[in-house]
Amino acid sequence: MTSTVVVLDAAHPAGVLADPAVPLVRIDDQGLTRGDGVFETMRAVDGSVQKFEAHHQRLSASARLAQLPVPSARDVRGAVELALAHAAPGGDGGLGAEHAVKVVISRGTPEDGPWSWIAVSPVPETTFRQRREGVTAVLLPRGHAPAQDAGYPWLLPGAKTLSYAINMAALRHARSLGADEAVFTTDGRRVLEGATSSVVCARVRAGRRTLLTPEPSHGILPGTTQAKIFDAARRDGWELGYGPLYPADLMAADAVWLVSSVRLAVPVRRLDHQPLPVDPDLTRLVTNWVSQA
Ligand code: PLP
Repeated sequence: MTSTVVVLDAAHPAGVLADPAVPLVRIDDQGLTRGDGVFETMRAVDGSVQKFEAHHQRLSASARLAQLPVPSARDVRGAVELALAHAAPGGDGGLGAEHAVKVVISRGTPEDGPWSWIAVSPVPETTFRQRREGVTAVLLPRGHAPAQDAGYPWLLPGAKTLSYAINMAALRHARSLGADEAVFTTDGRRVLEGATSSVVCARVRAGRRTLLTPEPSHGILPGTTQAKIFDAARRDGWELGYGPLYPADLMAADAVWLVSSVRLAVPVRRLDHQPLPVDPDLTRLVTNWVSQA
C-alpha cells in the first residue's frame, strides 16, 4: 500500500512530511505495544477531506477519555492537506479520486510521550467492489451489552481506540464462516454495529419511508456516516428511528447497509446465510447523501 505520512510531534506541532524510507515508530511505542491510542479514518475526494469537524470532534472525545492530548483542528487539517498534496493518485470508483485518511494519536514511548501521525492512502478496489456488489455478514454475539460500560470511563466507552484486535478477530471468524463481515449483537440478540461500521436499514411501507439504526448512545461508536445519512434523510422527509433493533428487524427490512466513512453505504445481501433484499435505487440515494461534501 502506498501511504503518505505526516508526523505531528513536539518538534513539529503543525506536521512535517515523513520520509517513508525511514523508520517512524519506536519499538516501545505504547500505541504499538498496548494499542494505547485513538484514531479516526476519514474519506477524501479530489483532495478534499469530508466531515472533518465531526471526525475532529470524535477524535477529541476519544482522546479526552483516554487522557491523551489532541492536536488542534487547524493543525490536523493542515497536516491532512499536506499529506493529501503529496499522496499517490486516489482510487477511482466513479465518484472522484478517493483517499483514506487515517489520523492516529499514540501514547508514544515512556520517554517521549504522545505523538500523532496522518497516513493517506488510495481507496482500494475492494472497497469499490463492495459498494457495487454488497457483502455477506454474520451476527456474532459480543457478550454483555456495551451500554453497561457507559458509567465506567476506564473502559473508554464510545472511544475509537487503537485496540481493534477484537474487531479484527470477529472479521476473521466471519470469514471462517464464509461471510465478508461481522455484525455484533448483545447476548440478548440486540443488533449493535459492524466490526468497523454502523448498521442502517430502510423500511418503505404504504408511502412511509423510515431509516433505522441501533441507538448510538448504547455503547457503540457514534458513526459520523450514519449521522450524515440521517441528517440528509430528515431533510428529504424520511422518518428516523433509533433501535433497539433485532435480527428479525433486519431480515424484514427493505434494505440493510453497513456504513462507514470510506466504504460509504455497502448493501448487506446475506445475513446469517439468509438472503436480504438489495435495492440499487435506495443504495444510490443513500450513497448520494453521504458521498457529497
Ligand atoms: N463502528 C465501528 C466499530 C467502526 O470502526 C466504525 C468506523 O470505522 C464505525 C462504526 C463507523 O464510523 P464512521 O461512520 O464515523 O466512519
